[in-house]
Order: sequence, then C-alpha cells, then structure tokens
Amino acid sequence: MSVSASPDVREVLKRTFGFDDFRPHQAELVEGLVTGRDVFGVMPTGGGKSLCYQLPAVVAPGCAVVVSPLIALMKDQVDAALANGIRAACVNSNMSLEDRKEAARAYRTGELDLLYLAPERLSSSGMLDRLRDCPSGGPAFFAIDEAHCLSEWGHDFRPDYLFLGELRKAFPETPIGAFTATATSKVADDIEAKLNLHQPVKIRASFDRSNLYYDVRQKQDWESQLIDFVKARPGQSGVIYRTSRKSVEDTANLLKANGIAAQAYHAGMESAERSRVQEAFIRDDVGIIVATVAFGMGIDKPDVRFVLHGDLPKNIESYYQETGRAGRDGEPSECLLLYSPRDGAKLRNFLTEISDEKERLRTMNLLREMEKFAAVPTCRRKALLRYFGETLEGENCGNCDFCAGGYEKVDATRDAQYILSAIARTGERFGSRHVCDVVAGANTEKIRENGHQNLKTYGLGSGKHKKHWRNVLDNLIAHEVVELSDDGYSIPRLTAESWRIMKGEREFSFYQDPRKERAKVSKKAG
Ligand code: ADP
Ligand code: ZN
Repeated sequence: MSVSASPDVREVLKRTFGFDDFRPHQAELVEGLVTGRDVFGVMPTGGGKSLCYQLPAVVAPGCAVVVSPLIALMKDQVDAALANGIRAACVNSNMSLEDRKEAARAYRTGELDLLYLAPERLSSSGMLDRLRDCPSGGPAFFAIDEAHCLSEWGHDFRPDYLFLGELRKAFPETPIGAFTATATSKVADDIEAKLNLHQPVKIRASFDRSNLYYDVRQKQDWESQLIDFVKARPGQSGVIYRTSRKSVEDTANLLKANGIAAQAYHAGMESAERSRVQEAFIRDDVGIIVATVAFGMGIDKPDVRFVLHGDLPKNIESYYQETGRAGRDGEPSECLLLYSPRDGAKLRNFLTEISDEKERLRTMNLLREMEKFAAVPTCRRKALLRYFGETLEGENCGNCDFCAGGYEKVDATRDAQYILSAIARTGERFGSRHVCDVVAGANTEKIRENGHQNLKTYGLGSGKHKKHWRNVLDNLIAHEVVELSDDGYSIPRLTAESWRIMKGEREFSFYQDPRKERAKVSKKAG
C-alpha cells in the first residue's frame, strides 16, 4: 500500500533534500512520524533511512532527537544536514565541553530541528530532564538509528542501548521511530517490545539487492584466487575484508607486490591516516581498500564494484551489511566470499573464550548459520533472504554462482553412511576431525588411545583424501542430517535423518564446486 504524502512533506522533500520522489517506503515512515505515530522501519543499507527521520524533523514543531551509536559519523551527518539547511547539532563524548554546551543551549532555546545524541549521553544522569527544558517541553520525537543494537539476538548488541526502554516511560506522548538495516524477525520483535512501540507504522523493505552477484568459493590457493579476481577487474573500486590487522597489512602488501594499488585500513592505524585512506578511496585516488570490519560504516560511496571477503565473517548479518556496501548506485556489482572450513574453526576458538555463557552460545549459533551459508552450495540469494525471513519466488535467482550453474550434483549416500557410522561407533563423543580421521584410517594418537583402529568403520574411506571426508561431514551438518552439540565443543551428533540414511531409507547428495584456480602469483615485489 502506498501513502500519498501530504503537500508540505513533498515540498520539503524537494526544497530541503532536492529529491523529486520518495524511495520505496519512505513516504509511509515520514507520514507516520509527522502525524505523531510510532514507526518501525527495517530497510537495507542504502535504502534511505536517514531521510525518514530528517524530513519529519524539519516539518514537526520542535526538535527531534536522534540516538545513534556511530559517534564517529555524527559530525558528518550533522554537516550534511546543515548543508541542506537543517538546523542540526550533536552531542557525544568526542566533543569538547564547549561544543556540547553550545548544542545544549541551541536545544534549550528552540533553535534546532535535529539533535544527534550518543546513547551513553542519553543515559547520563539528568539528561532526560534536560530534554524537557525547551520551548516545546520535550523532543518532537525520538529516532533510534541502528535499532538492532537493542537486541541481544542481534549481531551488534550494545548494553547502553537498553536504556532506550526508558524513553516511553519518561515521554509517554512522544512518538518513537526505530530504524535498522539488520533485523531477523526475532530481533524485530525484540526491538518493538523493548522500545514499547505503540501500534507502529511497520515497514519491512525487501532485503533483496538484485544488482549484487553473490559468489562463494572454496579457498584453494587463496592468494592466487584473490589476485586473479582483482586483476580481472582493472579500474574498479573494491573492498577486501580480512579479520585481523596483520592479515589486512599482509594482503595489502601482496596486492602491491603484484602491481595493484591497494591501501590498508584498520583500527590500529592513526585516525588521521584512516581518514586519509577513506578520503582517497571516496575520491577514487585508490581503487582497492583492504580492511577489517572497522571500514565501511556509514561510507556512502555509490560505485563500489566488488566486496571480497578473504575470511569467513562472524555472522550472516555482518556479511550482508558488508557486501551491501557494493553497488549502492544500483549498477551490477559482485560479492565474493572465499571460504575454508578452517576459518570457522578458528573463529570458534576465539568464541570459546567468551566467558558469559549466554553470549558465547548466541555468537556460536550465529557463526554456525554463517558456516552453513558458506559451506552448502545452494542459491545464495535465497539462503540470505531466508535468513531474514523473506522468500524469493522462482527457481533461479539469475545472479549468484549457484544459479549460474557451475555446480555438479554428486551422490554421496555411501560416503555419508561411512561418516555417520563412524559417529555412531565412536559414541557421538568426538569432534569432526577425529571422525574424519577414523573414516580415512589415519594413524593418530587419539585413535590409538581410544582403540578406534579396531572399529568396523576404521579406514573404510582410506582411498579418498581427508579433505573429502571433511567436506562430506560439512555437508551433512549443513543439510541438518548431523547436528553439532551446543556446548561449545561442536561434537557431531546423529539425528533421525542420520539413521534413515544409515538404514538405506534415503539418499544423500550435495553439490560440488568443480572450478579450479589457475593464476600464477608472485609473492615478492619486483
Ligand atoms: P541508509 O541509512 O538506509 O543506509 P541513507 O539514508 O544513507 O541510507 O541513504 C542512502 C543514499 O540514498 C543517500 O545518498 C541519500 O542521499 C539517498 N537518498 C535517500 N532518499 C532518497 C530519495 N528519496 N531520492 C534519491 N536519493 C535518496
Ligand atoms: Zn541464486
């Protein structure tokens, strides 16, 4: 259903923002806030969320308060608003006391349309009372940006966001708008409940970014894969994500050694240097950025042609956000994930160190979903959208590596039976590696210690490489034939489907990537 926005709203859209039309769903959300209702907008990155509260802030009498966790970007947002002639200011801990006082004064005297507040400011003592101290007796409305930070089910939970639950109690009559780009339905319900939204205008835009080509490949010689990919796209802007600062620097050096202009970006760099790299990227002085996830928040570069993940992201939300930085201009763009099951194991090792048990399980579960996405060849777009609770109609999305048809279906019923029987005979007590060792007939200490060389299944698969068995097991896990224990040890466990396969009641097949990489890479300069 489309709402025709009232004339003054349309005029402000044109006059203040310079746009002729609303993007999908903006009109409903704007109209909601302007007419004093709560609103809840779930829209993908680049969907145009800021306008949904900035425009009402201009139209509504009084000053709107925007809560945003992205302190580093606040000043840019305020500057952009000021450039549009919106009376805006911000208050956060990065600012001088003097600037904060000036913002407070402007708010008190009714000189602002828009005030950005960091969440920790809002919860500081007396702040809610000070918000009443203005000509209209309180904010025109509250806008909560990145609202998924409220939910413990999301990937970016921030405890200081919980305080936002107080807003409804302190200002029962003031409309609240919540905005996020990442919300599974669980997270969305949680946000709505925590903010105590009252019959909000709810908008859930599609998360399908049809111009993005999703590609997931097994890491083989990953450096060749990387160089090959970048070299095949001369002159394109791209972001390469890596997990650690060291791997960021190594990868940037590898690219340079191969004649590709690339710059590193990570949180360990001086902030002036980071700004310089970011600026150079936006101005196209540098084509390729190799970065940790610290890069990209709020960077609005429309023509990023590819996003390459050199390591497995921690969860699907982050992956979606990061790939979403490609192709904001709507032009065809690519998202390549190079995946190795070992990445998942490495991340899991880090996660076992999280001391809070609830938090540990939560992040482990999110990681497991990400691994499943990467390990199981199926339509990438459907898998992503399913994660966000959306269904995509049609057989073939036409824009992912799986639908492009590079995969071969292989029958793996017999191989699956070997693995499952090894899990059964070792008592569902050993990790994936050990199970594969048993099938492959490896001679390890653990096998000797447990007498597993005497099992019937031992060595049944010695004709094939260990990697093959690992792949079969990964696929069994990904297809939910085998479950992993939830205790942090990820022990493979059998399910009813496992038994059906072992009894020969059903077959098991999966898709395999037959592609091989060829490029030659020089690892030294010159
Ligand atoms: P989000 O916060 O959802 O990621 P932004 O608010 O940053 O998205 O908007 C993304 C881009 O779209 C910005 O460059 C913005 O100027 C532009 N934009 C927003 N609304 C419109 C519109 N109605 N028409 C044209 N461009 C728009
Ligand atoms: Zn597809």
